[in-house]
Amino acid sequence: MYENARDQNRFSKKEFLYEISGLPGVYVPSLYDIEVDEDGYVADFIAHNGVNFIQSNVALDLVEHPIYSLWTSKKSCYEYDDYLSLMVAMGCNKKCPYCVVGTVQGARDGKALQINHEQVLRLALDRYSQYGTRIVKLFFSSAFSDGGDDINSSNLKNLLIKLNSFGLQAKTGSLNIKQADDELFELLKANGQADVTFAPETVEHLRPIIGKAYISDDKLFYLAEQCNKHNMSLKLYMLGGIPGETDRDTIMQADLINRIRRTLRRDLLLEIHYNPVFVKAQTPLQHFATPRPEEIRRKYHILKTNITEQPTVFVTTITDSMVYYQPLLSIGDFNSAKILAHLYKKKRVTEEDWKHAFVELGISDERYFKRKDISRKLPWQHIGYVDHDKMAKRSQSILNLESKRLSINVVEH
Ligand code: SF4
Repeated sequence: MYENARDQNRFSKKEFLYEISGLPGVYVPSLYDIEVDEDGYVADFIAHNGVNFIQSNVALDLVEHPIYSLWTSKKSCYEYDDYLSLMVAMGCNKKCPYCVVGTVQGARDGKALQINHEQVLRLALDRYSQYGTRIVKLFFSSAFSDGGDDINSSNLKNLLIKLNSFGLQAKTGSLNIKQADDELFELLKANGQADVTFAPETVEHLRPIIGKAYISDDKLFYLAEQCNKHNMSLKLYMLGGIPGETDRDTIMQADLINRIRRTLRRDLLLEIHYNPVFVKAQTPLQHFATPRPEEIRRKYHILKTNITEQPTVFVTTITDSMVYYQPLLSIGDFNSAKILAHLYKKKRVTEEDWKHAFVELGISDERYFKRKDISRKLPWQHIGYVDHDKMAKRSQSILNLESKRLSINVVEH
């Protein structure tokens, strides 16, 4: 469009940007003057094009416009020499309040977009015939499900059977616990998978706060037993610092890990991926706070010192400077842009460098680590994936669950 307009001498770049800013889903930041106060709320807002709210466009259909890798090597994310990486779902029918996948991706009705088996087979066989690539990495297989609002495993199982029948090896990333049963484990094993990953995140009584009430501890022991039966390692995603979590909960989380370790055969790896809840813009948790590095490191210490069963391997960002800068990136407001501009020329940026950048620019990092008032406007609320009023209602219901949980804690003590 721009080239056409330019060739016809119709628009300058500025005029052109103004013109397209009226199209659905187009956001031109330079047309907005947004003043943000010390605490990170919008103090003044002017839209020079008169468009006060930009509704995001929905992602393209995954069948017609599949997303897949053209080429990979051993230096790509996974250890295989070559593999076809293929997105089988976009969005998620579950709407965990801390997760962008469930809120910013997917169809207009909020459900996950899905690819179909025919398209996966066509792409996989095409790659195999050209390069002999047998491994097919199915991205977002946790959301690859058969219709309906919930998640089930029949779509994934049928795809694994089909790929395997053509001599291909499908690999899944993390799976939803609702998909896990004996047949799925068997199919994964038949496809050459050596481990499975699930995301229980926290202890049973806190899971309702993060939308995972459907995961019972019993199901986790069942997963460990399935790993024993099918000779597979178990990886679990765990979070620290979720709303309402106390040190007692962290000790209980360690106890849960110990019990899973006792259930899992000694010769099988148990890997715990433990990270803070990074609060992200455009999710219902956007009003909550990411714990400060020193706080999440304290929790991590409590967790680790209460792990009695070995071997238990931990993988975490908590020991890395990422635990300080990720909250800036996942909020991504004007101040974080200033910090990035200040630091981008440095080759190696340490945690101290990040902190110094705030001091040198005279900016406080407080807003990235503190709770926000649900009734006040955040600097990204003129852009919408999910309706911001709906997200505010979910934030409020999380606050209610949290205070209920904290009052139970008081009574139990
Ligand atoms: S189930 Fe997983 S992918 Fe889906 S919304 Fe929850 S965390 Fe995100």
